[in-house]
Amino acid sequence: MPFSKLAIESLLTNGFGFLSQTFGSLMAPFYYIFDPTKRLFFLYLLVSGIVAFAVVFVKTKTVDSVFKTLFNRRVWLHPSSKTDMQLLFFNSVLRFVIFLLVFQGSLSLTKAVVRLLNQYVELQSPWQLSYGSMVAIYSVVSFVALDFSRFLQHYLFHKVPFLWRFHKVHHSAEVLTPITLYRTHPVESLVSGVRRIAVVGLVSGVFVFYTQSLIGAYAIFGVNAFDFVFNIFGSNLRHSHIWLSFGPINHLFVSPAQHQIHHSRALRHRDKNFGFAFSVWDKLFGSFHQVRFKKEFVIFGVQGETHRSLRQALMAPRTKPTGVANPIKVRIRDNIAVDPGA
Ligand SMILES: [Zn+2]
Ligand SMILES: [Zn+2]
Repeated sequence: MPFSKLAIESLLTNGFGFLSQTFGSLMAPFYYIFDPTKRLFFLYLLVSGIVAFAVVFVKTKTVDSVFKTLFNRRVWLHPSSKTDMQLLFFNSVLRFVIFLLVFQGSLSLTKAVVRLLNQYVELQSPWQLSYGSMVAIYSVVSFVALDFSRFLQHYLFHKVPFLWRFHKVHHSAEVLTPITLYRTHPVESLVSGVRRIAVVGLVSGVFVFYTQSLIGAYAIFGVNAFDFVFNIFGSNLRHSHIWLSFGPINHLFVSPAQHQIHHSRALRHRDKNFGFAFSVWDKLFGSFHQVRFKKEFVIFGVQGETHRSLRQALMAPRTKPTGVANPIKVRIRDNIAVDPGA
């Protein structure tokens, strides 16, 4: 076959295939509401909506004002929300590539870990576990490991000035809606993808070795029951203007109000509450901040940084951050001021 014909044929099959897949991934956010692995799954949104309704109704006592609060146009139609939406779709295309990487990467890493353990560890007898308890233990371990890795990544993206340049895009949100979760710079999304590969690959490798059985792809990549519980209990309210504190339970699990404190501009809230599901990591790293039941006054955003278009958000790392820039230096100074003997 002549080269030109081959090239055209290849473009027609692969080129359009790639284009249609890219287009498909661009449309993917519309299907998030049917996907229980996404925080925008309709059931999570519905429960969040009901919880938000209850929280506001307790205060305002009228249905009319509840709707006015929940569907506040100043929040949903804010230019900052527009950037959230643009990044949601931009990152969706990127996520399509990352997903292929994560799936392939985790499987190869799992195999590599098993091979390595086979070489160096002598297994007397594999764990005798029923399929049900194996999935349960795997779910707990991977949930805790992923939660800690997420915390650590988040911590570093605040403490290392170079990384903060990317993470400030998430923090420049001036209003919070559930879509703000997807307001991340593509570089941060990539790092998250690689981190997932590492954690899932390692945990799965150890499990496959010690149980000497293949945990199905469902157990590895399906909905983790703990993710489901985390998502249904108001994870969407983390990025919202609805104040929900778990009270004393905040010491165990991060409440939506605590994450809103994390988005606060106030100096006293700086570098607090990095956690996602468990508060224990913040306790260990000294970044835990308890919140009151009563709504606290919080201004969201980063001093001197507004990214009100996709271009501004993507280009944000080029500028040296002002305001909460160089969190490490600020942190050191704070420590010296607070406790000179430490
Ligand atoms: Zn952060
Ligand atoms: Zn956030």
